[in-house]
Amino acid sequence: MNEFDIIRRFFDRPVAADTGVSLGIGDDAAVVRIPAGQELVLAMDTLVNGVHFPENTSAAAIGWKALAVNLSDLAAMGAKARWATLSLTMPEADEAWLAAFAGGFFELAQQYDVHLIGGDLCRGPLAVTIQVHGLVPAGQAIRRCGAAVGDVVYVTGTLGDAGYALHMPIEEAAGEWFRLQLQRPEPRLTIGQALRGLATSAIDISDGLAGDLEHILRASGVGAELSLDSLPLSPSLETAVGRQQAVAYALTAGDDYELCFTAPSGSGEAVQHIATETGVAITAIGRIQADSGLRLGNSMASDSGTAAYRHFS
Ligand code: ADP
Ligand code: MG
Repeated sequence: MNEFDIIRRFFDRPVAADTGVSLGIGDDAAVVRIPAGQELVLAMDTLVNGVHFPENTSAAAIGWKALAVNLSDLAAMGAKARWATLSLTMPEADEAWLAAFAGGFFELAQQYDVHLIGGDLCRGPLAVTIQVHGLVPAGQAIRRCGAAVGDVVYVTGTLGDAGYALHMPIEEAAGEWFRLQLQRPEPRLTIGQALRGLATSAIDISDGLAGDLEHILRASGVGAELSLDSLPLSPSLETAVGRQQAVAYALTAGDDYELCFTAPSGSGEAVQHIATETGVAITAIGRIQADSGLRLGNSMASDSGTAAYRHFS
């Protein structure tokens, strides 16, 4: 198999007319159409074998996750995903591996109507770089800098599961839940698009809630108090490690790929409507305050004076 055989067999899939693709795989570059009034939203992420996924990760999981982490960035911007380009570096052309990798990639791509329009192949240590291209109505991308005093801080899904999955013993009973959380994160694209015009800021959680929320706070020039009691933790994680350790995973472990966003205090009903429509929990976990920095308290009832868990501060 030369590189053209690989592209033809595993990556060159027919693209329908209504996908905005004027020219896909096969020429020197792809050509796409940007509808009037829309802006192009771009994100790129690389996954390196042994760094971003354990060496024994299945090819299907790598294909899914490499795309998912990129789509998660588009979700945080409120963008609709449209196209992807893929740069694949691998030590050898293993047909079974390529078929499984493409299977994982296209399974997720089809789910969100994302079209592979080009890429590159290279021989070397296994690494996957994907660039995704999305669309957003002009001026409506959700940024990190809009959080305002009094806004409520929300997160989607549950936190800490993927971080725990990296450390857990392989044979544990709850293993399947944790494996899915680590290897098959669901990019929150539908929620992200629904948040346009509602969220004042958003970020996707790749490095742990505390650190990623800090990015919003710094960009917005505000602070926040979080209620640790309110953090959404899966029953599996609480059972496995206990509440306190589960909170630590939620705050500091990575790879959740959930959204953290802020919205004005009057928008609770609209937010819950999105949760109901998508079937994904959205939980209020704190409030934006004028004092910079992140404070960790035990309850949302009071605005100040709650004792922080020193363990995490
Ligand atoms: P060039 O030599 O001009 O860089 P390539 O031989 O790398 O061209 O690629 C030929 C065509 O195949 C291009 O359209 C390119 O975008 C596409 N392509 C290459 N690698 C991949 C890949 N891994 N996935 C999808 N398309 C790819
Ligand atoms: Mg090339």
